[in-house]
Amino acid sequence: MNGNGHTFLSKVLKIVEEQQSEVTPLIQFKHPEELEAILDLDVTKAVSDAELERCVRQVLQYSVNTSKAIFRNQLYGGTDPYGLSGAWIAEAFNTSQYTFEVAPAFTLIELKMLQHILKLFGILEGDGIFTPGGSISLLYAVVAARFKAYPGVKSQGMRNLPEMLLFTSEDSHYSIKKAAHWLGFGTESVRIIKTNNQGQMSVKELCSAIQRERDLGRIPLMVNATAGTTVFGAIDDLEAIAEICQKFGVWMHVDACWGGSLMLSSNQRSKLKGIERADSISWNPHKMTGAPLQCSVFMVRMRGLLHECNSASAQYLFQQDKFYDVRYDTGDKSVQCGRKIDAFKLWMMWKARGDAGLSKLTDHTMNIASFCQNAISEKPGFRLVTGVMQCPNVCFWYIPTFMRERQEDEQWWELMHKITPKIKELLTLSSQLMVAYTPVRHYKNFFRLAFTFHPVIQESQVLDMLLAIEECGEKVTLQML
Ligand SMILES: *Cc1c(COP(=O)(O)O)cnc(C)c1O
Repeated sequence: MNGNGHTFLSKVLKIVEEQQSEVTPLIQFKHPEELEAILDLDVTKAVSDAELERCVRQVLQYSVNTSKAIFRNQLYGGTDPYGLSGAWIAEAFNTSQYTFEVAPAFTLIELKMLQHILKLFGILEGDGIFTPGGSISLLYAVVAARFKAYPGVKSQGMRNLPEMLLFTSEDSHYSIKKAAHWLGFGTESVRIIKTNNQGQMSVKELCSAIQRERDLGRIPLMVNATAGTTVFGAIDDLEAIAEICQKFGVWMHVDACWGGSLMLSSNQRSKLKGIERADSISWNPHKMTGAPLQCSVFMVRMRGLLHECNSASAQYLFQQDKFYDVRYDTGDKSVQCGRKIDAFKLWMMWKARGDAGLSKLTDHTMNIASFCQNAISEKPGFRLVTGVMQCPNVCFWYIPTFMRERQEDEQWWELMHKITPKIKELLTLSSQLMVAYTPVRHYKNFFRLAFTFHPVIQESQVLDMLLAIEECGEKVTLQML
């Protein structure tokens, strides 16, 4: 390689620009074996830079262009260009967030971002840390809650502790089950509370479930409330849950991974009222706001707890006799050793746009989702799953013409359950749209269109998405199912 690979670097921006241009498709889908046959993946022999470029372009050609508006498959999508700039710079400066020594400016940036975000969420004191994602943030929350209740757990583990329970709603994110397993509670220690029609945790059931477990001598440790469920975007009644947590002395965590972005807008913020009473909160800027993956924030009310709970005081890294103020070595709050400087990309976005810019993007995203919901409610063949919209999630079925006059019995719904994935397949193979589908509770497979800040979507693009669904939906026949 020329110049040890450095000449290749100068080409990278151009390669990405070309492979992500207007005219490149969202996806050229190939099945795994087909793709393996196409790509030249073997690394045994070195190739020239020209050959490497060809291989890389080929990899990108068969990758999903998530920066396109028609990528609506997940809750992340196009990145904020300022955030992407920050991510590239962060990669180039390749450092770790653990000590002031190796990340002086980045340490101050993380502290500043945490301060700004904590204030935004109404937690005036408090602490926090950037983590690789919401699932990891939840691990932090459970570990903190357990440590607060039983500080001895850090050295002695769970062997002398009573049985502890975690409460969550049936629509909440599955990461609570993983956390329960990883942290030694076991998945059976997760108590699933029913949701109402709109997908919010039943506060009444929560209250009686906590009471019941206490009467049985078990310890309700944490309630995991959700602000923006993954599918419906439902926001639990945080104020009411805060009351219950306070009454029973239970740790209140709010999983605001998805809906936390609404805090950026004064028009939306009130939907999360009560979040300021939480003991801990997780928020994923790498979802709605378009910070490049991975960027998640874990916030905790009690100052000092994160450090006390997670520190291992490694002497080779966190020496206490350094020549500067070692309180700025914040890495011992983390479960990771090396940790990426994820706060930097978010800082760049925020610096470029300010509070007001992010607030505007939030409002636009909610407006586009409302537009989509209204359009769906009026279009023949489309049917909304739920009427109320709290986050920019729109959930619906497309009912092809041949299904419309039939009686909607169990068999009909079984067909709809197969039709939705079939439409998705046709949409993907024709590269018209990547959209999520899922069943939830008694609802058979339906679509979820969720909207994010980037790319900024216009109403006409939403109509194009619905048109594509309709077109593919009309291609479905009984024989295909
Ligand atoms: C996505 C999501 C998570 C998990 O976040 P990751 O960053 O993907 O680990 C947790 N909770 C909710 C509500 C989510 O939507």
